[in-house]
Amino acid sequence: MKLWAQDVRRFKSEFKMTITILEIVGLGGANNPNDVRAVKTRLVELGFDWLGAEGVIDQVDQLTINTIKLFQTIKTGLNTITGDGRVDVNGDTLKWLQASNAPRWQTMPAGSRDEGFINDELADTSDQHDFGVSWLADALRGAGARYKADFLSVHPNAAVLSINDTSLPRGGPTPAHATHQSGLASDIRLPHKDGTVGGITVGQTAYDRSAMRAMLKAFLAQPLAKRVLLNDSVLKAEGLCNFASGHDNHAHLEVNPPPRE
Ligand SMILES: [Zn+2]
Repeated sequence: MKLWAQDVRRFKSEFKMTITILEIVGLGGANNPNDVRAVKTRLVELGFDWLGAEGVIDQVDQLTINTIKLFQTIKTGLNTITGDGRVDVNGDTLKWLQASNAPRWQTMPAGSRDEGFINDELADTSDQHDFGVSWLADALRGAGARYKADFLSVHPNAAVLSINDTSLPRGGPTPAHATHQSGLASDIRLPHKDGTVGGITVGQTAYDRSAMRAMLKAFLAQPLAKRVLLNDSVLKAEGLCNFASGHDNHAHLEVNPPPRE
């Protein structure tokens, strides 16, 4: 039953939606109940469903404003929360809410060895960084498929692309990461030559640079891939990643928004 509801939601969200609002919704807006209901109903449909579960659907509260800011951060392609928290009558936020390729908020895909990537943290209930945007989920699925075709098919004992953290259930700041606030970034663990993953740095002999090279190429081949942060000087020289403090023991992957449709 739950799956069915998700399918209906996805089906609906892939068509251009006309949302008519007469005045501003959100922070400092007129917040007419009909306008608020239209905006929140669309956000719920796109997976920001805590608004429907917890809020009165025709009223604006801080949760609604924070959710509008999360949506604005996503459509702008940023990884720390920004935005003015309001939906203007003919503004960019409203246009993105109406877009056929509007961002959907979702649990990140679990993956499998057969798909070339795995997100085994979904099973770890002590960690909640399992949520993100459909654009990132699609890029990770695509990267897994490409990595499998290009590398795993000829190195069947190599590590699979192993996703660690994305974002918290409702996005926003997290003590575990400087960014990761808007579901547009995931971390992946370092592959070992023996096919296991994680717990090492790029300087250790166990590190499988060939597998990592193939993972990064597979990710960067995805249409929405933005950049990779990883302190591997060899792969940096090949143009596959950039340095950033704290990225000796994992790679950080980010996606961009698509052109709005
Ligand atoms: Zn990261």
